[in-house]
Amino acid sequence: MKIQLLKHKIPVGISQCAMGDPVRFNGGHKHSKVCTGLLAQCFDYVPLCPEVAIGMGVPRKPIHLLVDKAGAPVDAVRVIGVENPEVDVTTPLRDYADSVVPELQKVRGYIFMQNSPSCGLHGVRRYLDNGHGIDSEGVGVFARRLQQQFPHLPMEEVGRLNNSELRENFLTRVFAYDAWFRYVEGEEVDEAVAEETRKTSRISRIIEFYTAYKYLLLAHNQDATRALGRVLADSKAQSEDDLAFAVRGGIMDILSRPASRKDRTNALMHSQGHLKEFLSREEKAELQQLIEDYRRGHKPLSSVLTLLRHFLPRSPHGFIHSQVLLAAEPAELGLCDFH
Ligand code: SF4
Repeated sequence: MKIQLLKHKIPVGISQCAMGDPVRFNGGHKHSKVCTGLLAQCFDYVPLCPEVAIGMGVPRKPIHLLVDKAGAPVDAVRVIGVENPEVDVTTPLRDYADSVVPELQKVRGYIFMQNSPSCGLHGVRRYLDNGHGIDSEGVGVFARRLQQQFPHLPMEEVGRLNNSELRENFLTRVFAYDAWFRYVEGEEVDEAVAEETRKTSRISRIIEFYTAYKYLLLAHNQDATRALGRVLADSKAQSEDDLAFAVRGGIMDILSRPASRKDRTNALMHSQGHLKEFLSREEKAELQQLIEDYRRGHKPLSSVLTLLRHFLPRSPHGFIHSQVLLAAEPAELGLCDFH
């Protein structure tokens, strides 16, 4: 299997205020240059503002998350007016999220605005009915509903994407999720590639997808990657749909943990092992030294990947050629600082 790399922009949902549209409660916006500049090179955005969509208007009275005690479960919240607690938009926001599910089937990631009772993904402030803030364990009601509707969809907050490591991780997850649908589910945009793909059974495509992602997954979590391999080895134990759901979920889960230098070094050494027999003594030593320099933090990952890719054509083995770890994204897009 050869995963087709980025030839088209990937559809990604986004909180509309991050696009610079003046849809916030106070008539303002929260434009994100990272989203509309850097990431727009890869993403084709689907902007939504749930509060405007349910008819709250601009400007509008502020709302917040209400709970009856600290530490209440994430779904035990209501979204009510800060000034008028009789205003309760919990159900309209949840219903709106349900109504956009068909439109969002095509998105391969979602970027939410932080600290919003509708869109926040982590740590949204929650209040008691006396108006006192009680904890910061809330998730915006719209975002929460989409988490339930799309359990494996890569999601991130706008503010966190300013961090290069978190941004790289989000891109990696979006690319993987997109590649899954194009390859395993036969939704490739290029019809010639799609036709070729459909000649292989879906079960085979699931196994090939895992195999192509194996070294990238190992760089994120070795134990979980091997456990997922065991699920695949026993692929007849469950239906094809259940297997696809479990493997897609397992892959997205593993990728959501940032790759460590130690685990990446391990994956690089595995890759090196496949090439060794085709290298001269000097070339082997050079590659070995570069991996060691990366392990010690003296060289960037991109330098090792560049050398591995340089030697890659010498190997006749399909396995190493299929490895997404050695493919061109996202480092070669120039978007990310690999560490
Ligand atoms: S955070 Fe969400 S609800 Fe609030 S203005 Fe932005 S898009 Fe609209």
